[in-house]
Order: sequence, then C-alpha cells, then structure tokens
Amino acid sequence: MVELAILTILMVLGIIFLKYVFGLKFKEIKKMAKNTELDELTKDLPNSEDITKQMLEIIKNTDVKVKKMLDENTGTSLYTVMNNTISLGNMENKFARVQTIAHECLHSIQSKRLLWFNFIYSNIYFAYYIISLVLTFLGFFENVFFHMFIILFLGIIWYTVRAYLETDAMTKAPYLANEYLKQTKLEDEKIKTLISSYNKINEQAIPMVNYYLIIQVFCRLILYSVISMIVIG
Ligand SMILES: [Zn+2]
Repeated sequence: MVELAILTILMVLGIIFLKYVFGLKFKEIKKMAKNTELDELTKDLPNSEDITKQMLEIIKNTDVKVKKMLDENTGTSLYTVMNNTISLGNMENKFARVQTIAHECLHSIQSKRLLWFNFIYSNIYFAYYIISLVLTFLGFFENVFFHMFIILFLGIIWYTVRAYLETDAMTKAPYLANEYLKQTKLEDEKIKTLISSYNKINEQAIPMVNYYLIIQVFCRLILYSVISMIVIG
C-alpha cells in the first residue's frame, strides 16, 4: 500500500517535472496557431484537399486516398494506414493547415512496418490495459506490481514507436510545406514568414507531443495504482 502510494506520488511529480524541464507553455502554442495576419497570407491557397493532393505528388505517393472528416466540426486531421487514407479536419482559412497537411502526408510515407505495428499494437495495449484494470478491480490480479510492470513495459514500447512517428513527421513538415509553397504563386517573403512561423510552432509542439505521449503512459499507471490501492486498501 505504502509502496503504491510512493509510486503514484513519484509519477505525479514526474509529470510536473517534465512539463517544467521542457518549458512547455500550452497557452502559448494555442496563441501561436491563432494568427489572423498569417491566415491572410494563406487565404488564396487552394482548399485542403487540393493542397494534400499536390503535396502527395511532391513526395511521389499519390496512391493515398484523401477525404474530409465525417464530422465537419473536427479540427484534427489524420492518416490511417489501414485504408491508406488522409482524413482532413475542418481547418480552412487557417495558416497552420499547410503544416498540418504536410505532417499527415509525411505519415503516409513512413515505414509501413512501423505504421502497422503502431496500429495493431496500440489496440492490443489499450485492450490489455482495460482488461487489467477490470481484473484488478475485481480482485483477480493479486500481484499488482507485476501487472504494473507489464503495463509500464507495454507503455514504453507504445511510447517509443508513437514518439518516433510523430517527431519524424513534425520535424520534416516545414520542409514539405516549403516545397509546396514554392509551387504556389505566393511571394518568397510571405513563404519565409510562414515557414519561420511553422518552425516556431514546432519548437513548442515537438516537445509537447512527446510530453503528452509519455504522460499518457504515466496516467494509465497512476489510475492502475489508485485502483489497486482501493482494492487492497
Ligand atoms: Zn501525426
């Protein structure tokens, strides 16, 4: 019981500590993405679907299907390896959409082995986690430390693959955005301004995504630990 409490406190401290060392400012990144001056620069660009298709041509990966998100209000976009499809959220008129689309296009050329692994493994990991929670809650799992270790171990593998896939796509996105913008009628000065803003967003977004992924692993362990304490307690 005391050991579980110590582990839980340690993980909570880890979450706070990592936010501090990475210097993450969640409000700042939200502010950065809202910039009407920059939105003005990209307002004459084609719609998101056309931008995506053009970028896929640049990276020579035109087999990818492009569609709109079913829910019109979703702002997020997504590449799914299962059907080799980029689903675009509603982000028209936002300057950051060029970077977001580049990001999804870059996912589509990542190692298929990693993408499929990530897809299948994530489902197994989440299912295993939920089952562990339920079985622990019902008192079937007695050695909770052993099961916590398994969840941690599975989480580290999940984090490693996801963090790599996201960091890789985010790091390369400004380059692809630049390639694309050079093919448009946009003046060089405006392209430079946009790319430097994309790089600025990345400075916050890359550590933030990595942080967000690892704290998910911690949060799952914290919840498991709390449930274990309730059951044992
Ligand atoms: Zn991504």
